Amino acid sequence: MGNGNIRSRLFFKRAISGNLVVQGIRYAQDKFLLMLLMLCFFQNGRAQDKTISITIDDIPNTEMYEQNGFRSDLLLMLDALDVPFTIFINEDKIYKTRFRAKNEKLLEAWIANAQSLIGNHSYSHPRYSEVGYEAFMADVVKGEELSRDLAIKYDKELRYFRFPFNDMGKDSLQHHRMRDFMESRNMVITPFTIESSDWMFDVVYRYYIEQGELEKAKAIGEAYVQKTMAMVEHFETVAQTEHGRPMSHIYLCHDNRLNTDYLEEIIIRLKQQGYDIVDLDQSLEDPLYQLPDHYYRKWGVSWLYRWMASQKIRVSWMKQEPSLKDIESTYHEIIKKRQ
Ligand SMILES: [Zn+2]
Repeated sequence: MGNGNIRSRLFFKRAISGNLVVQGIRYAQDKFLLMLLMLCFFQNGRAQDKTISITIDDIPNTEMYEQNGFRSDLLLMLDALDVPFTIFINEDKIYKTRFRAKNEKLLEAWIANAQSLIGNHSYSHPRYSEVGYEAFMADVVKGEELSRDLAIKYDKELRYFRFPFNDMGKDSLQHHRMRDFMESRNMVITPFTIESSDWMFDVVYRYYIEQGELEKAKAIGEAYVQKTMAMVEHFETVAQTEHGRPMSHIYLCHDNRLNTDYLEEIIIRLKQQGYDIVDLDQSLEDPLYQLPDHYYRKWGVSWLYRWMASQKIRVSWMKQEPSLKDIESTYHEIIKKRQ
């Protein structure tokens, strides 16, 4: 009995330890698999990490402010959606209408918003390649007169800068000089990966509203949403092909009537497609944003193009972009009518 008991206990013990060994092996295998999976995730982009951040230039739109009863419906919409966004400020807009004090309050509301990160977009929106280093530098510094104090008031950092027109100079000399200047001021030059010429759609959209042609205006708004989603798909393909994984995208648009009415629809569609709307800080953690910029022309192209060393490859991708021909021709007709 006793022996049997010992034997069975020994057997039991061996069985347990054997089992433990097997379990241990399984555990090690699982762990190895897990590590392999994690490695794949980090290399190929984590499946759940389809992210994009929303950045809005030319803040605040003081032109629309009076007619809208001194309210920014774009800000109210973003606030209600509770998504993070980053604003790029042109302080000269404060002085573009006679409601200076009210306009200042509008800027303050954008900066005070809990979901906003803030950036300088220069004072008066000049083209760097045209005005040159000294004038541009002065405009950058002037662009922080109000926002620097407001940033402090709301415990925010004013570290981001976005070039007007994303014009980073006419050649590599201008480009590097301004890069050094930004670095000396601890400013981060803000990239973008996706834009869809919202400013052009906006001109046409407002034109039809002014003409009372609301159906046509609606068609333009819907075309803008469609085109934006097509651009998202295009730049997703560029990232996947050139870098072998999805990336954390940055969408660039403007404070205008069009986005007041349609940015919400774009955000909803992005979410439906599995995108997480993240803040700019998080987007910039994607190591791709550390890649060198090989593009030394004045045109404001996507950073996905700037990272391409070959102009030939860059141009071949640009040619595959969803066409903007329709909106361009309508835009030019309207501009001609106005002259
Ligand atoms: Zn701008």
